[in-house]
Amino acid sequence: MTRVAIIGCGTAGAAAALFLSRAGHDVTVFERVPDPKPVGAGVMIQPSGLSVLERLACHERVLGRGARVSRLLCENERKVAVVDLPYESLGEGLYGVGLHRGVLFETLFAAVAASSAELRCGVGIARTVLDSRGRRTLITDEGEAIGRFDWVVVCDGARSHVRDSMPEVAKSVTRYPWGALWFIGDDPEDHFGGVLHQKVHGTRGMVGMLPTGQGPGPKPDTNHTSLFFSVRGDEVDGWRTRGLSPWKHEVLRIAPEAAPLLDQIHDMDQLTFATYFDVTMPRWHAPGMVFLGDAAHATSPQLGQGCNLALCDAAELADAVSETRSISDALEAYTARRRDHLRFYQIATRWLTPFFQSDLAPLGWARDLFMSRSSMLGIVEREMVRSMCGTKTGFLFGSMPTKVPS
Ligand SMILES: Cc1cc2nc3c(=O)[nH]c(=O)nc-3n(C[C@H](O)[C@H](O)[C@H](O)COP(=O)(O)OP(=O)(O)OC[C@H]3O[C@@H](n4cnc5c(N)ncnc54)[C@H](O)[C@@H]3O)c2cc1C
Repeated sequence: MTRVAIIGCGTAGAAAALFLSRAGHDVTVFERVPDPKPVGAGVMIQPSGLSVLERLACHERVLGRGARVSRLLCENERKVAVVDLPYESLGEGLYGVGLHRGVLFETLFAAVAASSAELRCGVGIARTVLDSRGRRTLITDEGEAIGRFDWVVVCDGARSHVRDSMPEVAKSVTRYPWGALWFIGDDPEDHFGGVLHQKVHGTRGMVGMLPTGQGPGPKPDTNHTSLFFSVRGDEVDGWRTRGLSPWKHEVLRIAPEAAPLLDQIHDMDQLTFATYFDVTMPRWHAPGMVFLGDAAHATSPQLGQGCNLALCDAAELADAVSETRSISDALEAYTARRRDHLRFYQIATRWLTPFFQSDLAPLGWARDLFMSRSSMLGIVEREMVRSMCGTKTGFLFGSMPTKVPS
């Protein structure tokens, strides 16, 4: 048994806390937010993430509250399908789950609260200090020292303070120029059910409608659908000044089917602007420390893999720890085990994003010309579906098992 500190109780931190506490480690989780609440818009939970949730016995609530998605359909302004990827082309019964991010949060958070892990909310960790015996002391935002831990799992998200406080840790952190406006609307008649539907207009226009299932909270409420709209970060102030009317007009021009959601928006404060980061690290461990989730490898959400990768990180870390003799060996093994999977999704997302969100119009033409044609080839379609499922580990045929809970 080891004494381990986990910094951050989002997707990665909560999943790591569950795996490690169940394996008998003495776990303390530090979460900056004093009273964390289920917030956020829709996320896609892919077969890769579902498998991890099943291992944690957290899948039933996610499946019960989420919306099954059978297909990703992306169409351009001429209604030509740029990408049309049915999950079942890879195997009968395969699906993804559109989920309110808050449901994932409250499911994992409740499981951590009920576990043997100690949960300390309202404690932000600014940095850590390594002692001569290889153990780490945490320094809070207020400068208080909390020690000593045999090792530390850093899960404090894309803007990780702990990662950025360590000049000795190699990394590159860049903010994407583009982000998205998000809204969660009611969809009582399940008008948007079953399909993650994106409409694109060149590379500057993108509207998405993601079935999101029922919201968090004690009682299931009505079905929801998340609406997202691509916008450049430096154009958000202009968008606010112009007001809702011209924006709604623009959304309807790209996606007339979004009208029932737009009718529910009366105030700009109903929309949230999300920015994205691209984080790369040559290795995800340092002495007595490992980085998981967005702190280690944030990407744009173009492939919708962030939560799924964070869940896979936690499962692989637990396996590496249980299969090696020392924590330093386990952390080295962790970086090696995660390399192929994470590299594939980081490179693929970085490569794909400008075809959907950028100022480079010719990429939109190339996308419309080649993507739809190439995905008609069975073998290409299957590899594209596998990428969507979150299980690819290489650009050719490497893959993890792709299955969903039975
Ligand atoms: C708009 C948008 C859409 C997305 N869509 C998808 C999708 O469809 N599918 C998908 O899989 N992913 C999606 N993602 C990405 C996904 O939300 C993240 O990848 C995922 O939440 C990462 O989990 P994490 O635990 O690493 O970080 P986070 O969920 O960000 O959690 C970090 C936690 O650390 C806490 N914290 C921060 N700093 C400190 C500190 N100093 N001390 C202590 N605690 C701290 C925070 O309060 C938070 O609770 C999307 C992201 C965005 C922004």
